[in-house]
Amino acid sequence: MYCRVCRSDDLRILDFEQRYYYCNNCQAIFIEKKEIVRPEEEKERYMGHDNSHQNEGYVEMFKDFLEVGVFPFIQDLNNVLEFGCGPGPVLADLLEKEDYQVDKYDPYFFPDRVFENKKYDLITSTEVFEHFSEPRKEMKFLKHHLKYGGYLAVMTSFHPGPEKFADWWYKWDPTHIIFYNLNTFQKIAEDYNLKIIYTNGEKYILFKNLDFK
Ligand SMILES: [Zn+2]
Repeated sequence: MYCRVCRSDDLRILDFEQRYYYCNNCQAIFIEKKEIVRPEEEKERYMGHDNSHQNEGYVEMFKDFLEVGVFPFIQDLNNVLEFGCGPGPVLADLLEKEDYQVDKYDPYFFPDRVFENKKYDLITSTEVFEHFSEPRKEMKFLKHHLKYGGYLAVMTSFHPGPEKFADWWYKWDPTHIIFYNLNTFQKIAEDYNLKIIYTNGEKYILFKNLDFK
């Protein structure tokens, strides 16, 4: 078995909950493939979330993400892909209010492949990375659709380390199947020739694409 983020075979099973693996190389934590919830169940879970503008806390969360983790670092932004926007595309709406051209994609709720033959100045992906069953495939996709010098802005809660993982609330959602920390994201940056521009060390991370192709 290999780490689904970095392909290392240097893994160990966490003692307290044996369905989780910890990668000694990149420090990702993930569950076994057979434990992953089926897509139909996952969609139902999303439908149950209150992902709308009525939920004020939800809107504030995205405003904070943009104001703290994105806008201070990016100039000359034109087009944006909101990747994994869910049923109520709050973040896309906030970006459109700033007059950016925003494409929305979500495999369940906005399945049109709007990104075909396109590259973006910015791809946002919030509360999405923790759902990836194949993060390498997803990263390859995201990288492919970034312009040179383009940005990838991610929000996902960084795990607190294997010692504190047992009590960590974020893993209680059964659709959350893989967790990262700063070390994991540094490995991802190396693997895909990205540079980390900003992180708050908790849940926001902003990458810049260094490739010319
Ligand atoms: Zn790894």
